[in-house]
Amino acid sequence: MEKILAKLSREVSVNYPLAKRHLFKKKTGNAKFFYELCFDETMENDLKVFGELYKENLPFVLFSQGTNLLISERGYDGLFVAVGTKGAGIKFDEKTSEFHVSANATVGVLVKDTTERGYDFSPLTGVPGLVGAGIVGNSGWPANPTKRDFDYFVKRIKVFDLQKGEFEWMTPDGDFFGTRDSFLKQQNKGKTRYIVVESVLASEYIGKENVKELVQRQTEERRESSYFGFKEGTAGSVFSGGHIVMATGKKIQMMLSENPDINIDANGATFSSNGARLFKTEPHTTDKDVAKWFSHVTQKVKEYYGHDLHKEVVLLDYDGEVTLPEFLGRYDKKLGACGLSKKQELEVK
Ligand SMILES: Cc1cc2nc3c(=O)[nH]c(=O)nc-3n(C[C@H](O)[C@H](O)[C@H](O)COP(=O)(O)OP(=O)(O)OC[C@H]3O[C@@H](n4cnc5c(N)ncnc54)[C@H](O)[C@@H]3O)c2cc1C
Repeated sequence: MEKILAKLSREVSVNYPLAKRHLFKKKTGNAKFFYELCFDETMENDLKVFGELYKENLPFVLFSQGTNLLISERGYDGLFVAVGTKGAGIKFDEKTSEFHVSANATVGVLVKDTTERGYDFSPLTGVPGLVGAGIVGNSGWPANPTKRDFDYFVKRIKVFDLQKGEFEWMTPDGDFFGTRDSFLKQQNKGKTRYIVVESVLASEYIGKENVKELVQRQTEERRESSYFGFKEGTAGSVFSGGHIVMATGKKIQMMLSENPDINIDANGATFSSNGARLFKTEPHTTDKDVAKWFSHVTQKVKEYYGHDLHKEVVLLDYDGEVTLPEFLGRYDKKLGACGLSKKQELEVK
């Protein structure tokens, strides 16, 4: 693996503490290798190097700002790539009224720039993270009255296909996106094949003042939950809010006030008592505690509302992304370990 990594444009960090990339105040292990992908003249070379890792089946993962990520205390035993925001760009095409947006632009800058031109991207106000990640996860704010998620705005997507080793433009059809889901997210499960590098986005022109008003309204509505979200170090979407509302007609806050025993405090792993009641941990919280909380909450919601909570956050363990049942099997001994060697089981104890 080191031989291939040596072809990258800049030096790779070794044994990198992933806590630096983590929004949660939880224990987080190290990445064996860490690299920042820059959107400049070095990008194409670096993407081709990732293509070599792909072909050789060598372990690597790619994240943007990590606001939808929970990293285990064992870290990641491969190359962790973070998308850097330097050189991000948004260009407006006067002829087509479309915005050409680099995948490393923040959603915040996208909303700000498009507002200045009078185009309505206000439903994305307050969504954290980068545009590329927003497209892959079809982000949006469930409480927005228009219910417009990223899919509403996306016309074309430029990806680097690691299998083919080349750039490709995709035009999403009706099946491309789902609730907090996309073709890209599905294809990248287990092994990252497509890296989003650019997109073409469009929306209605309603004039700067009108967009400003909508943006301000949503900013106000989200202010409290965003404040506590970032102050307390919470995960925005451990469970998909959209799925919960669709299945039960209720938000998680309502469920928690109707049935407070849905929540427990497992050594700091708990729903925040403030804002949008998002998931939080403390520096002493272990993965075993997180697993205990996950299994308690999912069982209680099933018991009271008959709903299987839909995990949205990415759970990253030493060997890559794991599903919720795998995470519980690994870290909650009551559910039985699955996929762990005896040695690894001892490490988890
Ligand atoms: C306080 C708070 C509030 C939140 N509010 C919302 C909300 O209102 N609506 C909502 O939808 N989400 C919300 N979230 C969740 C999260 O912000 C979104 O999912 C966001 O889109 C993630 O962006 P990111 O840059 O942090 O992506 P990351 O967490 O870094 O990555 C998310 C996923 O996208 C993949 N990915 C990232 N970049 C690329 C790329 N260029 N190419 C291919 N794959 C890529 C990663 O592999 C990963 O699977 C919130 C989170 C927090 C902490």
